[in-house]
Amino acid sequence: MNKALVWFRRDLRDFDHAALYHALKQNEEVYCVFVFDSDILDALTQRQDRRVEFIWESVRELKAELQCRGGDLLVRHGQASKLVPALARELEVNTVYCNRDYEAAANQRDAAVSQALAEHDIDFLSFKDQVIFECDEILTKSNSAFSVFTPYKNACLRTLNDFYLKPYPVDRYFRNLAERDPEPMPELEDLGFERSNLAALKLPTGMSGGSALFEDFVERMPQYRQARDFPGRKGPSYLSVHLRFGTVSIRHLARTAWQMGGQGAETWLNELFWRDFYFQILHHHPEVAAGHSFKPEFDHLAFPNDKKLFQAWCEGKTGFPLVDAAMRQINQTGYMHNRLRMVAASFLVKDLLIDWRWGEAYFAQHLIDFDFSANNGGWQWAASTGCDAQPWFRIFNPVTQSEKFDPEGKFIRKYVPELSQCDNKEIHAPWKMSEQRQQALGIGSNYPLPVVDHATRREQVLALYKRASQAAKADEASNSNEADDE
Ligand code: FAD
Repeated sequence: MNKALVWFRRDLRDFDHAALYHALKQNEEVYCVFVFDSDILDALTQRQDRRVEFIWESVRELKAELQCRGGDLLVRHGQASKLVPALARELEVNTVYCNRDYEAAANQRDAAVSQALAEHDIDFLSFKDQVIFECDEILTKSNSAFSVFTPYKNACLRTLNDFYLKPYPVDRYFRNLAERDPEPMPELEDLGFERSNLAALKLPTGMSGGSALFEDFVERMPQYRQARDFPGRKGPSYLSVHLRFGTVSIRHLARTAWQMGGQGAETWLNELFWRDFYFQILHHHPEVAAGHSFKPEFDHLAFPNDKKLFQAWCEGKTGFPLVDAAMRQINQTGYMHNRLRMVAASFLVKDLLIDWRWGEAYFAQHLIDFDFSANNGGWQWAASTGCDAQPWFRIFNPVTQSEKFDPEGKFIRKYVPELSQCDNKEIHAPWKMSEQRQQALGIGSNYPLPVVDHATRREQVLALYKRASQAAKADEASNSNEADDE
């Protein structure tokens, strides 16, 4: 009899699941396991971590679902690279199945597991599951990786067909789940964590939460294009954390958008392609995972990195209302609206003159949907150091961004209640009000004055990038002269 173990990681669902489907189809006795990996958890600094709680809730639901189907999800806590091979031996399975992960640390872990299993003649099979297109499926005509999004997206659209979006009919084979006496699930405290404010945020977890959010979004998808840029409106899908942990199926989401068509759905499908785009950048340019700029000429920009300014940014106390509201949103909820991620990131780099890697690390610690590839891609985009990035001489004005995307200050008022008495015009730049009005509304006392002057900083940052850009051009010229001399 063929026996298998399915190792769940960032794919916490029991439907349209590539590894589970193949395991159930090819084996008569299939076990399932999830490991709370101490290599990851021990590195987290906060004991109240929304991500751990989100995963814990989602694992709990998956376990209950698999039990209803006649199986179980074994839940372990420890080093996954050791526990998975040990469990495979204990259960005497022939093969371990999982869905591919594209991050550097995950690749190393999987290589170690594969090797440990091979020593005992156990196969290790991994499948494409969390992306529409895998890193080598969409290449240029000369078979190289794309580094500009629009041609990449166009190639995706040319390639896309039913085959790529077909669901895996897992439920046909549930009879092959191994029967076992149900095992208890470790409590969050057993893992060394406490409850965060996740429940208060009303962020639905697990497969049921992902499906409820998507149902709600499908109704709004036709308006996505117009609504997505305004943080005060319910424009985007809020599905990023579900995509991160695989409680939704990317194929199901993409198929719905593709079949719906129209501007809203097409724009949203593009966003799903951005996600794939950054995964393939990470794969083809592993230097970005080692902290390097995609554009080498901007790898060593001489940022002054003022720690006090960084602290003000982290705490949402820069005196720029939209930036502060954005930073308070991430601190309080672990989510930040996409427009605000761009504004806050640009502000850190181009107004505060702080290395984008500091902001990247802060987001990595606080975002509930933190994904290395999208986060790194987003930061390098904003810092103009990345592929297909914002040109370095284009600098967001935090006040105009605020006037344009939060015209009535609805979002600002929610997260910066100190400014709730400002009128719709004043709220974007409260330091411009009359002295008397500033005093009355507590500007400079209850709410800070701007920590920098945008116009001055703009000139400074332009000079910084210009120097680096000119130095790179000079290097290039001298290299080509040397080549000519040879
Ligand atoms: P929607 O607008 O509903 O988009 C649907 C999905 O498309 C998202 O859930 C996401 O999976 C994908 N997507 C959308 N925009 C992008 C993008 N620019 N790049 C890659 N994928 C995208 N996204 C993350 O998932 N994790 C991160 O750690 C992350 N860090 C970011 C950091 C910065 C500085 C920036 C500018 C963007 C970052 N993004 C990140 C991308 C984007 O901001 C979020 O995916 C989006 O805000 C999530 O909200 P949503 O699910 O409501 O998005």
